[in-house]
Amino acid sequence: MARSDNRSGALFSEAQQVIPGGVNSPVRAFKGVGGKPVFFQSALGAYVKDVDGNELIDYVGSWGPMILGHNHPDVVAAVREQALKGLSFGAPTALETELALKVRQLFPSMELLRMVNSGTEATMSAIRLARGFTGRDRIVKFEGCYHGHSDSLLVKAGSGALTLGVPSSPGVPEALAENTITLTFNDLDSVEETFREAGSEIACIIVEPVAGNMNCIPPVPGFLQGLRRICDEHEALLIFDEVMTGFRVALGGAQAHYDIKPDLTTLGKIIGGGLPVGAFGGRRDVMKHLAPLGPVYQAGTLSGNPLAMAAGLATLNNIVQPGFHDDLTDKAEQLLKGIRHQADLAGIPLRTVQAGGMFGLFFTEQETVERFDQVMACDSELYGRFFHAMLDEGIYLAPSAFEAGFISAAHGDQEIEQTVAAAGRAFQSLLNQ
Ligand code: PMP
Repeated sequence: MARSDNRSGALFSEAQQVIPGGVNSPVRAFKGVGGKPVFFQSALGAYVKDVDGNELIDYVGSWGPMILGHNHPDVVAAVREQALKGLSFGAPTALETELALKVRQLFPSMELLRMVNSGTEATMSAIRLARGFTGRDRIVKFEGCYHGHSDSLLVKAGSGALTLGVPSSPGVPEALAENTITLTFNDLDSVEETFREAGSEIACIIVEPVAGNMNCIPPVPGFLQGLRRICDEHEALLIFDEVMTGFRVALGGAQAHYDIKPDLTTLGKIIGGGLPVGAFGGRRDVMKHLAPLGPVYQAGTLSGNPLAMAAGLATLNNIVQPGFHDDLTDKAEQLLKGIRHQADLAGIPLRTVQAGGMFGLFFTEQETVERFDQVMACDSELYGRFFHAMLDEGIYLAPSAFEAGFISAAHGDQEIEQTVAAAGRAFQSLLNQ
């Protein structure tokens, strides 16, 4: 099926004249799948509409925030109502406390929390706080996990850094990168060993409790529990980066789902309902080290922005409805079951992974995909061809084999059936290429 893309192509050429690579965030450039990015003009529910008039069923959902679907009426109404009262004050508002209380109710480990403007700011601030609190400089992260683009965390990173083949970025001073120890996700032995050697120098472990930036990899049983124990033994802080998993894997995030209490948590995406918001928080004694209570500095002109708070609150007020996450999980299951079935029919080896409302597609014959090297052994070129075949069918998947997929409450049976049927035709077209 031919999809028109003339207008997208023209806009991309124009954008490249003024924006590096034509995009404001690298994965959008389609480097991971080849071809030219699709420019969007509007969205509603499970659908996005591109500038050439194509309607696409969307499994990216702005990379996670649109858990209610696009332009949910409650969210739009809340933003509109607030916009009439003021766009930004740089002074406290009741909305900030209301959202903070709501978040704490869902994430009780976040005894105190602070709003920021992105996931990057949340993780960067949490790392600084962990260092300030412990008086230690070194941090542990896992290869293929992505925690935003701050210097300390851009070492062997996932997401766009991985897609573009620059997991450790030029521009990050060696002296800083040396303080980031990168280990293998789901390999507890390497964590034990590292802490045996250098435990007293390590401020924290930061981890995506379900890794969503090297495709989608849940923790193996005992991994997160082991991290908790090791941090306790060495008086290091455990930071769960729930920017992606928060409110998505379960209402209370991965920490509720796996029943682990981190010292600090970072949030983003859903908490802003599509507007730029992040948050970090955790143990009261740790958070009290933050300015103005303590010496660790962190600030933001637009932090707690009223429009963003209003959008976040309207989103959270919707997803707390009973059964919301069960439904979301069922939908993702239904989708993956259908896609697997179609792959089987075509004889294409495909593994799928699911954690609540997020999922991963791995083109591989490997029995399991639990570690970074196993992700890298999957056929990302085949994913790229599948991506384009699906795009031609009107289905918008993540434009990289290293990103998780997201489903929303607005995806109904019809959209899922349509997607599964499209996958069947897409798989067949791969065989014919
Ligand atoms: N942490 C995780 C787990 C993420 O997935 C992301 C972004 N995908 C970030 C941090 C950074 O968030 P942002 O892009 O809002 O800066």
